Amino acid sequence: MGTEIRTYGDSVLRRKAARVTKIDSETKRIAEKMVEAMLRANGVGIAAPQIGVSKRIIVLDLNDEFHVLVNPEIVETSEESVTIAEGCLSIPGVDAAVDRKLRVHLRGVTLDEKTVDIEGEGLLARAIQHEIDHLNGVLFIDYLSPAERRSLLNEYNHKQQEKTE
Ligand code: ZN
Repeated sequence: MGTEIRTYGDSVLRRKAARVTKIDSETKRIAEKMVEAMLRANGVGIAAPQIGVSKRIIVLDLNDEFHVLVNPEIVETSEESVTIAEGCLSIPGVDAAVDRKLRVHLRGVTLDEKTVDIEGEGLLARAIQHEIDHLNGVLFIDYLSPAERRSLLNEYNHKQQEKTE
């Protein structure tokens, strides 16, 4: 496990991540790596599969405070949703409009084993839904129509090629 962010095409991003059964030093080490990777990439959230660890752990950046949540679950959402452009550290350089619930109520466990509730609205609600999707092997491009997805992935592949040339 490193702090390298796994990108589109890596099978770990499509796997359903396993629940964490025990919060131990390994869990803490994973969380540290996640924070490191997120900071380096300037992200507002990251999920463990993005650094190659298929476990249910996410990190959210809430006003420059990092919240590590183990086994996070969305327990309630608003009916109202909003469509805004969104991107992903694992598909860098492209974004697309995705419909997300406006508000979500998230419950998870901290590294010191306390259950916490986070009420997210707007961008935070979006980040929460995006990171939870990662734990289920879902990427934001899955919400696009086949034509939109094709064109976005074409753009992404072009950008990746330019980078390696
Ligand atoms: Zn992502």
